[in-house]
Amino acid sequence: MRQSWRSQRWWVSGGVVLSLAGAVLLARQSLEQQRALFETDARIVHRLLSQQVVQHDAILATLALLQPAPAAPGTGSPEQRLPALYPRILSVHRSDAATPWPDPALAEAENLSRQSGRAALAPLDLPSGRYRLVLASEPASYALTIDLRALVPWTEWPMSPDSSHVRVELVHAGQRHVVQAGGPQAGAGSRFEFHKVVAAESQPFDVVATQTVGWRQWPWGRMTAWVLAVAAVLAALQHLQRQRLARRRAEELLRLGQVARLNTLGELAAGMAHELNQPLTAVLANTQAAQRLLDDEPPELATARSAMAQAAAQARRAAEVVGRLRRVVERPGNGDQRQTVDAVDAVRRALDLLEPECQRRSVVPVLDGAASLAVVADPVALDQIVHNLIVNALQALEQVPASQRRLTLTLHTVDGLGELAVADSGPGIPAEVLPRLFEPFFSTREGGLGLGLSLCETLASGMGGSLSAANASTGGAVFRLRLPLANGQA
Ligand code: ADP
Repeated sequence: MRQSWRSQRWWVSGGVVLSLAGAVLLARQSLEQQRALFETDARIVHRLLSQQVVQHDAILATLALLQPAPAAPGTGSPEQRLPALYPRILSVHRSDAATPWPDPALAEAENLSRQSGRAALAPLDLPSGRYRLVLASEPASYALTIDLRALVPWTEWPMSPDSSHVRVELVHAGQRHVVQAGGPQAGAGSRFEFHKVVAAESQPFDVVATQTVGWRQWPWGRMTAWVLAVAAVLAALQHLQRQRLARRRAEELLRLGQVARLNTLGELAAGMAHELNQPLTAVLANTQAAQRLLDDEPPELATARSAMAQAAAQARRAAEVVGRLRRVVERPGNGDQRQTVDAVDAVRRALDLLEPECQRRSVVPVLDGAASLAVVADPVALDQIVHNLIVNALQALEQVPASQRRLTLTLHTVDGLGELAVADSGPGIPAEVLPRLFEPFFSTREGGLGLGLSLCETLASGMGGSLSAANASTGGAVFRLRLPLANGQA
């Protein structure tokens, strides 16, 4: 029982470890995939925004170079048609000596542009979603007002702006414009980040992409599938192991049964020898009668002769029976099989074998005492004795309620001998039964042969040991098997 619980615990903890290890591996793999995807998307976003922004420099440079004049008097300047071509350009301003800038901030930016020799940003208000870029040139300078929302080429965008978890912002001088809101960025989880300034010196906006992968984004489906697969494989393996164990147990029971049958023959012989007591008693009675008849005055010779003849006939028959039985029982070549064996192992084997029997009776056997006990015994005989004692105890325990059933097997050294005590909490042995317990054919069980204990005792004494029975002070029966210790154990 305990062993099976331990093996069950191994299966469960093995399953938990395997499931966890696989789930962690899957989660890490998925995280790496998401990180790689994030970086690819962020790089594409940076390239797309750079391509857009750099066009503003090109447009301003073209205007500065061409200085376009109205095609005909009264028509608007050609640069005013730019917003129609580029929706992100909200307006174009032109300023020369005669036309001042509509906003002094643009004059300031023009000065900066003149100093740096390239387009310059007017003071920024990024959260408003627009900015102005000025290029100083002669005779006129030009300024573009650019709409950041229209700047983003959504048709080429690598992510779905509504459902993507990636947040994209343009950041400059502490101001930021949110291009794509993405999923929640706070909370526990792995955080990916990407920073790179767009490839246009005049508009040095930092493209910042961030993503937080929380537990909601874990590959729950695959992780669950893995755990289920591990559970299924372990269950199948456990089932296979159980089947193997059951087969081994059945084979072992069969072997014990065969041994028991062989030994029972011996017991049978002993029992029959016991039965022979009767003819022998008759022989004795006849010879005594003959003696008396011969002593009579005058001696009754005829009657005495007939009594003697009867005695002789019965003695011959008895001798024949004994001789025949001996020939059957003697097993040529079956010599001394004794060797050093660990009695604890024998007990474990028997408990393992009888586990279903114990379970069926709700008995949880307790193995107590020494961790190992080397004795000199015939391993097969020892197995058989232990098996018989446990089976008897289980049968006795059937007579008490399940909640009161206890079975304790204690192994220790007593008086220089190895002892196995099998104690049960059954009804115990009645005083009148105790002296007859080891008699062949004595049984109080319905259908019992009454050969088990007598066989066990014969086997125990054949190995130089002993088997005794008693009632425990706490109730129930205790059977003590004693065997010689192996060298060095005494
Ligand atoms: P069987 O089991 O066929 O009766 P055994 O020789 O094994 O033959 O047992 C003989 C008798 O000893 C049993 O019928 C029973 O009365 C008694 N006995 C054996 N073991 C126990 C036990 N643990 N508790 C009480 N009585 C027992």
